[in-house]
Amino acid sequence: MLALALAAPAPAPSPLEVSLDDILGHLQAFQAIAQAHGGNRAAGEPGYDASADYVAARLQEAGYEVERQPFTFPFYRELAPAQVVGDQPFAGVTTLRMSGSGQVTARPQRVGQGCTPRAYAGFERGRVAVADRGGCTFQVKAVNAARSGAAALVVVNQKDEPFSGGMTTPQSIPVVGVGSGVGAAIADLTRVTVSTTTLSEERVTHNVIAQTRTGDPDQVIMVGAHLDSVEDGPGMNDNASGAATVLELALNLARSKPIPLVRFAWWGAEEEGLVGSTRYVAQLTKEERGKIKAYLNLDMIASPNGIYGIFDGDDSEKLGGGPGPVGSAAIERAFEAFFKRHRLPYLETDLSGRSDYAPFVAIGVPSGGLFTGAEATKTARQAELFGGTAGSPFDPCYHKACDTLDNINQEALKVTSGAVGFVLRKLAFELGDAAS
Ligand SMILES: [Zn+2]
Repeated sequence: MLALALAAPAPAPSPLEVSLDDILGHLQAFQAIAQAHGGNRAAGEPGYDASADYVAARLQEAGYEVERQPFTFPFYRELAPAQVVGDQPFAGVTTLRMSGSGQVTARPQRVGQGCTPRAYAGFERGRVAVADRGGCTFQVKAVNAARSGAAALVVVNQKDEPFSGGMTTPQSIPVVGVGSGVGAAIADLTRVTVSTTTLSEERVTHNVIAQTRTGDPDQVIMVGAHLDSVEDGPGMNDNASGAATVLELALNLARSKPIPLVRFAWWGAEEEGLVGSTRYVAQLTKEERGKIKAYLNLDMIASPNGIYGIFDGDDSEKLGGGPGPVGSAAIERAFEAFFKRHRLPYLETDLSGRSDYAPFVAIGVPSGGLFTGAEATKTARQAELFGGTAGSPFDPCYHKACDTLDNINQEALKVTSGAVGFVLRKLAFELGDAAS
């Protein structure tokens, strides 16, 4: 978007002074929605649909036409804990995500790491496969086990402790994980019972999309946030913080005349593997993709023990994910300008692929945004820079039931929402000048 040199005279900048109180009002609405719908706003659940209705209603009141983009995704839930029983039940058994559901009693048989069909050369059909963790994905292990006729698969950790993890597609057989001690004990038995209780089915969810009525349709700026929470909590920091901010930005822009068209997206099923944003990008034509000049992503922008992380578009910090597409560096600089202007500390955070910018980066759309931190631990240097507690997670309630309104860092949200408003104003009203 920054290479654009539009000759249009710069209109008066829109207000885009997002109000913290208004954002908090949306957060309270999302919290109430979660409370009224079983404590979560997860994709495929009524709390998500109510969240989408709330966003759509506010947008319609402001004069937007709202598009809902439906798609299916593999909905999975563990309905009861897994069990492995020999002479007595073993402790520390976990159901691996996307495991099949059922109970089988059979003889266990080791298959090494179980990463190739050859590992099953001497395997007797109908037995319980016991595979060591490592060497390949759980998906590969599970597929090999099922194809070789295993009745169930037990994956044994290298360490003597339970672990979690999962496959990427729904499996037909029970797949559980155990620590190394349990694994050794199981392998010596002549009979073992493995049981899992899971639900796997295709469910429909949807993205919510709206765009300004004016602005050059060939120059599109997008701002997105995932609207779904995980099953275990109301998802206030992750990611009502981003969804409420995008909503407030949209309501602010409703009455102004941006130079480019500005499109807002609330993604569904991000927590199920970036499904909504991936589907959105996949259904765009090549021409439509080329029109998107920038994508801003907001996912977790009010972490209680957080930092101000700006996505490292130019990969200057060499954080692992590589640089964003050309133009990402200029978005990064626009965010930096806000923090410098307000004498606020910031760090660069890796475009690691863990949120909805990933499919946009993959098709070459300049991308950026803010992130105040998830489950990772705050370092001493970060605590010096931002305050807070070194050695504690940025968000101790990440993906937990305690990610409630109380988990929202209002001071951080005021800064992050202000920063996004600042950058969006530049992109929407000063095209060609965002890097200055
Ligand atoms: Zn998130």
